[in-house]
Amino acid sequence: MTELTGMFPAELGDWCGAQGLPAFRAKQIFRWIHQGADFGEMTNLPLPLREKLSRIALAQPVSILETRRSRLDDTVKFLYGLTDGNCVEGVLMHYHHGYTLCVSTQVGCRMGCAFCASTLEGCVRDLTAGEMLGQILCANRYLGGEDRVHNVVLMGSGEPLDNYDSVTRFLRLLREPEGVQIGLRNVSLSTCGLVPKMMRLAEEDLPVTLSVSLHAPNDEIRRQTMPIAKTYPMEELLRACRHYVEKTGRRVIFEYALVGGLNDGEQHAAELAARLRGLQCHVNLIPLNSVPERGLRGVSEATVRRFLAKLESLHISATRRREMGDDIEGACGQLRRRIMTDKQGGEH
Ligand code: SAH
Repeated sequence: MTELTGMFPAELGDWCGAQGLPAFRAKQIFRWIHQGADFGEMTNLPLPLREKLSRIALAQPVSILETRRSRLDDTVKFLYGLTDGNCVEGVLMHYHHGYTLCVSTQVGCRMGCAFCASTLEGCVRDLTAGEMLGQILCANRYLGGEDRVHNVVLMGSGEPLDNYDSVTRFLRLLREPEGVQIGLRNVSLSTCGLVPKMMRLAEEDLPVTLSVSLHAPNDEIRRQTMPIAKTYPMEELLRACRHYVEKTGRRVIFEYALVGGLNDGEQHAAELAARLRGLQCHVNLIPLNSVPERGLRGVSEATVRRFLAKLESLHISATRRREMGDDIEGACGQLRRRIMTDKQGGEH
């Protein structure tokens, strides 16, 4: 089965040519795929052709297996099924400026951050560009044509820069004129800090917002929860961030999960502010979703406020990230883990 979803129009043209199809068929198929249609629904294609294509190719490699809607807000959590039986998660959030979809880039993750549920079983495999796009196509279909995904955050399971080629292909597909047409200014790519790949991304013409999971004011603390910090010290990481700002003119966002008793003191805020001084950036504070198995706990509302106030007093732009879908296991990897565990439990 050839997956057509991740192909650029020219590639799809070549593939269609090899099947003896004229160029206009490739254009029709490309348009249908990006509207989320499967071959059976491609009504301007002759029926025998639709049947043939269904046998040899794949238009929609992702499907929604489970949907969970929050009662607290408009957040929807999806469990997507992939053709090989694996599954990944996604979250659709409704903000005043439109819908934002959180997209996964790998099944699992090999970065090993202590607080993250996605990495507990390591990385199962990379997703293809078509499977990343497929998540958007599913969400658009879910919205039923009345609305569509406007913003994308690569903050689902996986480390996007550890799947560099497929992720950059996916980003390029987003801006295809006959595609889903999501401007790269509406895309955030979140990384735990793979420095060489960040440097490489800065050279591409892909002006996404770079979001960096920092979670600590210094290497000593960072190494306690993020193995990647042993490979790339903060000094190098911040240098790569500065380079990204210079090259793209876009400020970098730092994600900072407050972990009770580890990185949540006012002295940590002061140290962080000193490290970030002069860097065009914004800090997003996230109260940690606690991970009792690892002895990591969240923080009180008062602690978040104190940390935020300290950063602001030192003239560092910062906000507290809005929590959405708290009642539907909105956080990373939680739903997939529960479902996979239930499945495995059922098989015993
Ligand atoms: N691998 C990328 C993309 C994952 S994005 C990255 O590391 O940035 C998911 C974000 O949620 C990251 O900032 C991650 O550090 C954060 N996160 C993971 N587990 C969390 C938890 N238990 N509580 C709060 N934030 C968490």
